Amino acid sequence: MALDLPGYAIGGVSVGEPEPEMLHAVESAEAWLPAHKPRYAMGLGQPDQMVKMVARGVDMFDCVLPTRIARNGTAYTRSGTINLKRSDLRMDPGPIESACQCYACKHFSRSYIRHLLKSDEILGLRLVSLHNLHFYINLMREIREALAQERFGSWSTAFLSEYKARNEEHDDE
Ligand SMILES: [Zn+2]
Repeated sequence: MALDLPGYAIGGVSVGEPEPEMLHAVESAEAWLPAHKPRYAMGLGQPDQMVKMVARGVDMFDCVLPTRIARNGTAYTRSGTINLKRSDLRMDPGPIESACQCYACKHFSRSYIRHLLKSDEILGLRLVSLHNLHFYINLMREIREALAQERFGSWSTAFLSEYKARNEEHDDE
């Protein structure tokens, strides 16, 4: 803190430790950081983890997950992740997420994206990556709006009760 840097990073908390330990490490570091400088949690995180860390005073994140899990065919939605390679989506005419305004959801169905993924067509990975990046950008926008309107507490409770992290990165066929 004596160096008076323009901002501060919290690192080393995304290396596979259980989430309670990660949140504990963030809480421990956050108490020492000046309130008027940006705080950055390096290499994090899942959508629900970002909401939990904003609640603990973190401002910024970076993460490979939106594109990494897209390359496994997994998309983020408000209710959690969904693996688009699932066989029950083979004839699904709906978008990845019905309320989503991203290019992939406006123009392509789950069944077509599933076909692209199953055929190893690179467009499938690009569309799921687009959707996931849109999801993250939109999530942070909603967080900023909720904070500005002093309703982050109720917003985050509602988000976290709807969002269920699932391990759906593997094909079911
Ligand atoms: Zn979308």
